[in-house]
Amino acid sequence: MASDDLIRVANLKKYFPVRTNLLASLRSKEVPMVKAIDGVSFTIPRGKIFGIVGESGSGKTTTGRAILRLEEPTAGSVTIEGEDIVKLDKEELKKRRREMQIIFQDPFESLNPKMTIYEVVVEPLEIHRIGKDEEERRKLVSEALEEVQLIPPEDFLFRYPHELSGGQRQRVAIARALILRPKFIVADEPVSMLDVSIRTEVLNLMLDLQEKFGLTYLFITHDLAIARYMSSNIGVMYLGKIIEFGEVSEVLDDPDHPYTQALMAAVPVPDAERKRGELPIRGETPQPINLPPGCRFNPRCPYAFDKCFKEEPELFPVEPGHGAACFLYADFHSGRLERGRLPKY
Ligand code: SF4
Repeated sequence: MASDDLIRVANLKKYFPVRTNLLASLRSKEVPMVKAIDGVSFTIPRGKIFGIVGESGSGKTTTGRAILRLEEPTAGSVTIEGEDIVKLDKEELKKRRREMQIIFQDPFESLNPKMTIYEVVVEPLEIHRIGKDEEERRKLVSEALEEVQLIPPEDFLFRYPHELSGGQRQRVAIARALILRPKFIVADEPVSMLDVSIRTEVLNLMLDLQEKFGLTYLFITHDLAIARYMSSNIGVMYLGKIIEFGEVSEVLDDPDHPYTQALMAAVPVPDAERKRGELPIRGETPQPINLPPGCRFNPRCPYAFDKCFKEEPELFPVEPGHGAACFLYADFHSGRLERGRLPKY
């Protein structure tokens, strides 16, 4: 682990058993599993933003939740400052949770509608017994609201979530996450439920806070433009695996995995003259309960060859710090394939 890595995720898996009827479960000894995440690994240096991008159902949200143990991982490790939080007992985990917070996608659902804004934001302080009395906690809550630009805080403290706009509600959720002075925040599609006109404001606020407090983010999004705006490095997920990773500009400007190329080819470009090459990606994403043997992208990949139907590719290096889970890059790396013969969108 490099000394400046705050988070290291190694071979993280989360499988969910599928409910079957009694007769089916008596017939089969094996419980069918949905492999929501299936061996995800990455590191995030302190003070950096790592973006996870992918379509709905790719395992992005489950990855964020498993890292914080809001879902218990099936296997793998999540190390923060050298300590594997997967191995912590309940009390130890509670202490670490102060340092690891989450901002959920939907501020309409994540805030208890029966609690005032003060009660929502003070709750983490009470759970962790921070602040010697009510007066001190009130001061901390007011400061947290000021930090997210809910000013003056007295105007917000005793209002209810339904009295605020979507953007204000998400600011409250950010204040709640920040009040414990965490080191690491999982932001799970934090602006996707907000009006387009206020998304940039909330993203800029998150960037300002990241700089001010030296925060480290795992930023989950399906929106490639937002991933580019927010992240220094990204991982592209497909059916529970990271299939390409690297610096955000390298991955999005010069994608190597055929799936990333297809994602980028699908992004509309403002200049009608500048058409991207058609990528003949076909079919639907398979179900994670019924993954194809070999490379999980093989049913849709225009470049699939024999080996792709028998073996699963690991992440092969393309450039330093940039990798793709595709056999074409194994051949490229070993010199059996020239760069000019690699697929390009
Ligand atoms: Fe396509 Fe084969 Fe590469 Fe998978 S390993 S992305 S099927 S070429």
